[in-house]
Amino acid sequence: PARAARAKPRAKSATAKGLAPKATRGVRAAAGPAQYVYSFGKGRAQGSGAMKELLGGKGAGLAEMSKLGLPVPPGFTISTEVCAYYYERGHTWPKGLEREVERAILELERDQDKGFGDSANPLLVSVRSGARVSMPGMMDTVLNLGLNEATVEGLARRSKNPRFAWDAYRRFVQMYADVVLGLKARREEHASPFGAALDQLKRERKVLLDTELSGEDMRELALRYREIVRRETGQEFPSDVRVQLWGAIAAVFRSWQNERAVAYRAMNHIPAAWGTAVSVVAMVFGNLGETSGTGVCFTRDPATGEKRFYGELLMNAQGEDVVAGLRTPQPVQTMEQLQPACWRELLRIQALLERHYRDMQDLEFTIEEGKLYMLQCRNGKRTGFAAARIAVDLVEEGILSKDEALLKVEAEALDQLLKPVFEPSEIARARKSGRLLTKGLNAGPGAATGRLVFDPRQAERLGAKEGVILVRQETSPEDIKGMRAAAGILTARGGMTSHAALVARQMGKVCVAGAGELDFDVENSSVRVGGRVLKAGDWISLDGSTGEVFEGQIATRNSEVMSALFPAAGEKPVSGPVLRAFQKLMQWADQVRTLEVRANADQPDQARVAVAFGAQGIGLCRTEHMFFDGAKIDLVREMILATDQAGRKAALDKILPMQRADFEGIFEEMAPRPVTVRSLDPPLHEFLPHEDAALHDLSRKLEVAPEKLRARVQELAELNPMLGHRGCRLGITFPEITAMQARAVMEAACNVLVRKGRTVEPEIMIPLVGTRREFELQAAIVRETAEAVLAERSLKIPYLVGTMIELPRACLVADEVAKEAEFFSFGTNDLTQTTFGISRDDGGRFLPLYVDREILPADPFATLDLPGVGALMRMACEKGRSSRPKLKLGICGEHGGDPRSIAFCHDLGLAYVSCSPHRLPVARLAAAHAALRAKARS
Ligand code: PEP
Ligand code: MG
Repeated sequence: PARAARAKPRAKSATAKGLAPKATRGVRAAAGPAQYVYSFGKGRAQGSGAMKELLGGKGAGLAEMSKLGLPVPPGFTISTEVCAYYYERGHTWPKGLEREVERAILELERDQDKGFGDSANPLLVSVRSGARVSMPGMMDTVLNLGLNEATVEGLARRSKNPRFAWDAYRRFVQMYADVVLGLKARREEHASPFGAALDQLKRERKVLLDTELSGEDMRELALRYREIVRRETGQEFPSDVRVQLWGAIAAVFRSWQNERAVAYRAMNHIPAAWGTAVSVVAMVFGNLGETSGTGVCFTRDPATGEKRFYGELLMNAQGEDVVAGLRTPQPVQTMEQLQPACWRELLRIQALLERHYRDMQDLEFTIEEGKLYMLQCRNGKRTGFAAARIAVDLVEEGILSKDEALLKVEAEALDQLLKPVFEPSEIARARKSGRLLTKGLNAGPGAATGRLVFDPRQAERLGAKEGVILVRQETSPEDIKGMRAAAGILTARGGMTSHAALVARQMGKVCVAGAGELDFDVENSSVRVGGRVLKAGDWISLDGSTGEVFEGQIATRNSEVMSALFPAAGEKPVSGPVLRAFQKLMQWADQVRTLEVRANADQPDQARVAVAFGAQGIGLCRTEHMFFDGAKIDLVREMILATDQAGRKAALDKILPMQRADFEGIFEEMAPRPVTVRSLDPPLHEFLPHEDAALHDLSRKLEVAPEKLRARVQELAELNPMLGHRGCRLGITFPEITAMQARAVMEAACNVLVRKGRTVEPEIMIPLVGTRREFELQAAIVRETAEAVLAERSLKIPYLVGTMIELPRACLVADEVAKEAEFFSFGTNDLTQTTFGISRDDGGRFLPLYVDREILPADPFATLDLPGVGALMRMACEKGRSSRPKLKLGICGEHGGDPRSIAFCHDLGLAYVSCSPHRLPVARLAAAHAALRAKARS
């Protein structure tokens, strides 16, 4: 009841890293009695599993398990509201908190029949962090709290095990000094003085293992540790258990703002305002001897999703021993022999918890002298493979509905199912042996290995024979064929929507972009990175899912889904559980989504992949990509170099049949679906060679003097080509280009209709429109040409003429534009660039910092900026519909494949999202999520 009166935590933008945390959210409303502390244990709990926002995942899990009557050591959780208060009010505690904590301690003492600070029978506690979502290992924990020179003796007597007691004490001193007194932060560079003291004592005692040290040795070590604290901090190690407790509580709250946690939150889009809770839990010991132990387990395999109880156990150990990796744990199944009663109990509990939470659980447990305790339960982290498989299995086991299962799988997780992967053991080996060279943006996920090539033409030549990785300062459209031939692409410059990144994703290529540490030495055709010099021909490996770049060759294997859908010649398609889960999820997603999905594709092979991945059309065919292909480039250059309209027309006449053939190839794959073809967009200088050798080459081919060529290149050069003579501005100055393209589209549609008996619905799209008149002029050319072609062929093919919306001005005058345009397609790459005034090709240099400092919640080129770009889109939709109620609306910027942006597109009521072919499964699932969530809201 007290809850209802309290202010709901508000997610507000968080504080900048490294600054004194400012107010992160509203403090409690005045009304209602305060409750900051929630006790649990002995089959009771004040909180529950539903209270993650307030108690954090760990606190909520402990409360829920306690309520279920499971063996949980008792304790209490201090709510996330206290975390907010602590930061807002200059590291002070809210009124009444101390009294609540005292009361909870009293209850705990009664429960445990022990006294906090009681030297005869001491109560020891752990102080643990726990946010609303798990942030594994990011925040701090203190164990064995409540020990001092008196209570350690009491623990020794009670446990009849002085070695254990002194070992616990010395571990506590070290942990407390590191976490609470800040010793760890001070010694970033050198090894731990505690580790050094331990090694020193082992040398003195002439032993190798910690386990060979006696109780007396542990006592000596604890005393030395305290001496280290005195030396390093100038203070005595605190003996007062209440001082210890409040010190630890504050330190765990502070760890919410440590560097690791801040970085993890930025990566996972977790608001700083959520805060962490702190759970204080009665200690149970897994290191009391051979009948004690500790472990971690998952109710299903978190890597594959297979339904098998999976976990690890370490006997006679405390949790941190498992984490530290000093001893190798055994499979949890060994418990059956060692502690059969505990094993039966654990099996019962894991099944019960999975059913209760209706999801795979990640559990932590401790066995203290033959008695099992559950320390944690939460939904387990898992790979994309496991996510898909577990969700589908849970439906088939009758635990989840299909809709619930869809919501359990993050859309992004599906991406993993399509990518080749590195063999995990190989990647570990590469890391261990120092072969990680650098890290860039994970622009195109997957694993690729090959020989380093600097020259795209060479990539084209060699790529057919063996894997090559194309390494460039940045890529230009001219590199396209080299990019296609390469197994992976690595660039020093460029962000997530740089040319390299978007072309790579569209091709489904592995790509690491913006790896700024690459230092090119063009003369020696080498690149310096990570202290190495790599030459052309050297082996290099890219992990496009993490952005990591490795030296050397690392073995990869094809994904199950890809080898099933697109088996290589002679390859027998495999059909395993991953493929099955993938297909089921896609089928269920298609049943609930209302957004259509289209692909951005400009080659028949891309169209084929798109159809296989469920594309309902093409949302963007960038015609300039075809211009670069084969013989066309020279004709295009001839057209650009022509000095008059007649010369241009002659060249265009030669381009027409080739362009038409391109469209036919795509239309045959796509018929009878709609295909949106965009008229020429990039500035013309991009098509001309800039380097001397290439210039001379062209001069010979076209029989034009090199000086004349160079002069034309210079004439076309622009200071700011992105804002220059591009988009519809080209078609306005050279209407014959638009006419040729419109003719090629319509003739191709006719030819396919005649050949196959069905054809696509062409949608011709004009780019970079800012005024109604621009569109009007271009649309007139398209319509006139289309009608002429249909009349010549005596055929009827419905077609649409529409525009891209990629300038703020287009949004502002969308009602005017919609009077002429039959559809809008949001080009959010340019719309983001022009709304922010941030170059999409250069933003990569500083946008990561913006995200890191929480100036922006995410890279706006990857995820739609809703308050800015999103508001413009909303305005364009409303204005557009006001003059044309049935206006067809879609999106074809890179955001069309981003789940959070897709949710927004659903809410705007767009008809479709269009994205790279390989993103389609992600988009289908994200569209299903959006529909399900909207339904739940209404
Ligand atoms: C856009 O700007 O969002 C778009 C799709 O066009 P391009 O990326 O080709 O500029
Ligand atoms: Mg654009």
